[in-house]
Amino acid sequence: MNKNKEILTIVSPIDNSIIENIESHSNEDLNKIVENAKEAFKSWSKKTHRERAQVFYNYRTLLQDNIEELSQLIQQENGKTFTESKAEIEKAIEVTEFACSIPQICTDKSLEVSQGIHCRISKKPIGVVASITPFNFPSMVPHWTIPIALGVGNCMILKPSEKVPLSALKIEELLKKAGLPNHVFQVLLGKKDSVEALCDHTDVKALSFVGSTKIAKLVYERASKSHKRVLCLGGAKNHILVLPDANKEMAANNIAASMSGCAGQRCMAASVMVGVGNVDPIVNGVVEEAKKIIPGENLGAIISKESKDRIEKYISEAEKEGAKILLDGRNITVKNKEEGFYVGPTVIDNVNKNMKVAKEEIFGPVISIIRTENIDEAITIQNNSSYANGAAVFTQNGKLTSYITEKLKAGMVGVNIGVPVPREPFSFGGWDDSRFGAGDITGESSINFWTQEKKITTKWNAEDKKDWMS
Ligand code: NAD
Repeated sequence: MNKNKEILTIVSPIDNSIIENIESHSNEDLNKIVENAKEAFKSWSKKTHRERAQVFYNYRTLLQDNIEELSQLIQQENGKTFTESKAEIEKAIEVTEFACSIPQICTDKSLEVSQGIHCRISKKPIGVVASITPFNFPSMVPHWTIPIALGVGNCMILKPSEKVPLSALKIEELLKKAGLPNHVFQVLLGKKDSVEALCDHTDVKALSFVGSTKIAKLVYERASKSHKRVLCLGGAKNHILVLPDANKEMAANNIAASMSGCAGQRCMAASVMVGVGNVDPIVNGVVEEAKKIIPGENLGAIISKESKDRIEKYISEAEKEGAKILLDGRNITVKNKEEGFYVGPTVIDNVNKNMKVAKEEIFGPVISIIRTENIDEAITIQNNSSYANGAAVFTQNGKLTSYITEKLKAGMVGVNIGVPVPREPFSFGGWDDSRFGAGDITGESSINFWTQEKKITTKWNAEDKKDWMS
């Protein structure tokens, strides 16, 4: 066994049972994977967009046909509910459909720039590229990159989170079944060492990362050192501003769903509610809605014991500092799944803007409520966060909505919506500590990230005048 190979133990957070032990790749394996990808690139990159899109039409059908099995696998390795797991595949299908439109949207542009002289610009693949993904969306986040990077002609190495690699292996299997040639897409199994080796490999020409801000920064710096193109998405702390005129039912159930969906383990989850003025009826509504979210039923598990302990510590610290726990999700066990890692929905009121629960990413089903007197104070609290992924406002006042949305500092802003995720063809991406590098990870922005532009200037008429372009 190579020195860098190790056994990855995949544990189900639902009941702490071992699903599988799999061997990781070594750095020597990585070199072989890159060599194979370089070879595959020679023919894959030469195909037309239309030829490549045929694979993704087939793949889309396979995702649809296998949606139940794929969702069960996500549920098992990640711990989220079946409905949430299925939603991941539905999103994967949406991005795949977008990739099928590459022949229509990734077209060359041409212009006669001077009499008889034409300039043509076309987007070309980059080569061997890598995608590194987190545990919280074992299928959706890999699909943010796979169909688009491959659809424009690159060969990709995916390094999934070591906690949830089984969905990634299934993606590899289905892509092959869809007709993807060998080695155009390969999964690299491993942990930190594999990521570092990908960052350092000079034949990997572009790299995307999705994960925590701490690691996003490390990866961004390390991968840039080997002069590759890098885009790293990091963590989040999403604020929802609530005005007293908001529709009570809509605000309450959207906020409760946003904070607890995927057990709060998603980068677009509502984490702080900033209530402006008297929003007590809405706060009470959030608590009532959150009470309907039951661990083990419509609330999934937390990825690990370590994460469960971390979340509960945040709640306890806030309580010690004087915050009021309106709904307490600590010390939860689920019948027949006593070994599983669960935290119930937690609503914390009277949070001070300087408390840890107000500033740090908790990544659990917890919402911290900060009360303010006026809108500008609420906007300042949101603007002072180092993160800038999502933010939203709940109100029925159109004039205030445009004032607030203009001032919120976030890549993705919502109005009366708890999880303001842009849908295809609009792109997904935050600002500041939630994103390092230029552009977004999906949509048309991603086509730019995974391609480089060739500009061809042509003159055929020998009789044309001589000028500075000659
Ligand atoms: P993570 O940063 O721990 O891991 C992400 C990836 O980095 C994994 O593949 C992991 O193997 C690798 N990794 C871990 N430590 C490393 C190290 N020291 N050096 C190099 N690579 C390393 O993130 P996670 O816990 O898997 O996922 C949760 C985080 O991801 C949260 O912070 C969440 O907000 C973020 N996230 C962000 C987005 C977004 O779009 N901005 C989307 C999903 C998740």
